[in-house]
Amino acid sequence: MAMDQRAGHLEPGHVIAGDAGLHLKGGACASCGALAFPKPAICSGCLSEDIADAPLAGGGVLYAYSVIHVGRRPDLPYAVGYVDLADGVRVFTELTRTDGLCPDMKVAIEISPEAEGYRFNAAPVEAV
Ligand SMILES: [Zn+2]
Repeated sequence: MAMDQRAGHLEPGHVIAGDAGLHLKGGACASCGALAFPKPAICSGCLSEDIADAPLAGGGVLYAYSVIHVGRRPDLPYAVGYVDLADGVRVFTELTRTDGLCPDMKVAIEISPEAEGYRFNAAPVEAV
């Protein structure tokens, strides 16, 4: 069986339910307040091990992206990119479209259950 090679696959432990639905589950350091995704065992800022679950922002801006035209997936082309969430955490994921993308455009994080975990994508919310 082929492994899931899409960028936006999440294991079940990386998602948390919040007021507005599903969120990426980050970690918030109780000592210095640093946020990270995925939730780390130790804070990279102050080495504290006191990390609390933190639902991350549901959107942000596209930092950088690349459109993939060659590969084994049947749905070429597709786009992947880094998103700077509104709370300052940068995540890597797949984008919902390949056209009209540009750095700094607003995107929404979409999370949906799938067979083994979750799928998360960044969906552009404005035209270029
Ligand atoms: Zn810290």
